[in-house]
Amino acid sequence: MNRNTFDAAWGKARTFLTYKAERAGCQFVAVNPEYTTQDCFRCGTRVPKTLSDRMHICPVCGYTENRDLNAAFNIRKKAFSLGWGTPEYKPVEIRISTPAYTPEQVLIGEAGIPRL
Ligand SMILES: [Zn+2]
Repeated sequence: MNRNTFDAAWGKARTFLTYKAERAGCQFVAVNPEYTTQDCFRCGTRVPKTLSDRMHICPVCGYTENRDLNAAFNIRKKAFSLGWGTPEYKPVEIRISTPAYTPEQVLIGEAGIPRL
């Protein structure tokens, strides 16, 4: 894939993600992915890894996490530092959902459950 095709594909992906984020009431922020896999999310120490290293284990603070999850946390931290502010958590009403039917109304044979 040549450079122009690659850039065009990224441009389309960014446009699409921006559109989908806005429709969902969110904001799309592109961050520089440099060192997001290697940097420790907790203390910032750079911990070099090979592609086969699947776990992030920080020798300084002891933080241990899946490599991709550590990178995801770093990406989120970078996004918030780029003017996204801090995450906002809106309180939502939580209700216990009630089933539309009671289990007694379902016949075992109709539900496809074998009789024991
Ligand atoms: Zn650390």
